[in-house]
Amino acid sequence: MNFGYTPEQEELRRQVEAFVQEHVTPDVLRDKEAQDDVMRGGTGDPFGSHMRELYRKLLDRGWLGIAYPKEYGGQGGDRISQYIVEEAFMRVGLNISLSGSGAPAIMAAGTEEQKRYYIPRLISREITFALGFTEPQAGADLAGLRCRATRDGDHFVINGQKIYTTSGHLSTHIYLMARTDPTLPKREGLSIFIFPLDTPGVTVRPLWSIQNNPRAPLGTTYGEARTNETFFDNVRVHESTLLGGENKGWKVAADGLNLDRVGAFRYVMSVRRDEDIVNWLKETRLEGYADNPAIRDKVAELWTEAQVCRLMTMRSMSIVQRGRDFSYEGAAEKVWAPEHGVRTTEAITQMLGPYAQLLRGSPHAVEEGVFAHNVLGAFQSGVNHGGVQIMRDQVARRGLGMPGPRRQKAAGN
Ligand SMILES: Cc1cc2nc3c(=O)[nH]c(=O)nc-3n(C[C@H](O)[C@H](O)[C@H](O)COP(=O)(O)OP(=O)(O)OC[C@H]3O[C@@H](n4cnc5c(N)ncnc54)[C@H](O)[C@@H]3O)c2cc1C
Repeated sequence: MNFGYTPEQEELRRQVEAFVQEHVTPDVLRDKEAQDDVMRGGTGDPFGSHMRELYRKLLDRGWLGIAYPKEYGGQGGDRISQYIVEEAFMRVGLNISLSGSGAPAIMAAGTEEQKRYYIPRLISREITFALGFTEPQAGADLAGLRCRATRDGDHFVINGQKIYTTSGHLSTHIYLMARTDPTLPKREGLSIFIFPLDTPGVTVRPLWSIQNNPRAPLGTTYGEARTNETFFDNVRVHESTLLGGENKGWKVAADGLNLDRVGAFRYVMSVRRDEDIVNWLKETRLEGYADNPAIRDKVAELWTEAQVCRLMTMRSMSIVQRGRDFSYEGAAEKVWAPEHGVRTTEAITQMLGPYAQLLRGSPHAVEEGVFAHNVLGAFQSGVNHGGVQIMRDQVARRGLGMPGPRRQKAAGN
């Protein structure tokens, strides 16, 4: 087994790293900060001119959609090359990945027309999706969702509420799960719809996260200040907005979410927390840190652990690349990485002592409070995009072939 890159991939890595050094300028990073401000409810440009220019250059080089077929605006390249580009950008705090974009799900379940329309626009970021699955009473128990899509000829009329529609205020479209047949068993009467968020009847309202005040500094791993509640009031959409067919939503969503988890995101998120503390320890002039054997031992252990996530990511990409059945591996990463994040941030908290509680804005905050904000983000990431307990259930059922939990009989029955 060869874990190294091919000579072509190694050359790409060199090119991308040189590009990042030259083109990810302080102006681009200021645009990224401004984008974070808009996420937080500010009124600036969510996509500043320097950021726009950077994306144009990336598009020209074909680096935004390397692994997507040429007929849909990609390069027909391999998944590892795509990973190399994603990793280099994520390391400087820019997520240019198409993981989490809805593109993998559309490739897997879309009609030819949907693929031709959406994939090039997702690659260029002309279209971005918010994910509309969770409802106030349906999170882990997603199959219990109530949002209704009622057929009316060749249209559907949607009514209901979603919660945690992250980036719903910045995205152009929504990837929505709704109940199309309430007479069928819970999982069988669901469908996915993809349509513009400016369709009449859609209202997006802010829902502030724990990272809102003070705002997390750039480099915080999972520092979104805002998510949303989205309301659907007699929203009329054509049946061509169905993804994967009527009442087929459960499988489309499960496969799509699993594929959406493949990419550099989780590994870089894990390892950056470890590397950031190592860099701080190397630079700090405070006594009793870098030369403390217990701290040195702990950071070495955490960094080594993070490499497990890289191997899991590489394995996932290799499976997807070869077109093999990819059923539980994304869920396994989703268990491993957030829990590593919690372990890491808790260990850093112990190392920094009282400083670990100081958020951005405190005059004594370490590194602008990034470590303190990372603690908050680590706990969020154990719940979002599927809670780790639910992911464990998927690994047990799909990966290990175990039966689902037996329903307990109520006492006295
Ligand atoms: C910051 C953030 C961003 C998010 N963004 C989006 C988004 O863009 N789009 C979207 O649709 N959703 C989004 N979510 C929602 C996320 O997917 C849900 O929070 C998640 O599915 C859990 O649902 P819940 O919050 O209702 O918790 P609950 O369902 O109430 O669960 C609470 C806890 O109990 C555990 N649990 C529940 N049932 C079981 C069980 N049977 N066995 C074992 N453990 C169980 C869960 O894993 C969780 O840890 C986001 C959430 C957060 C926090």
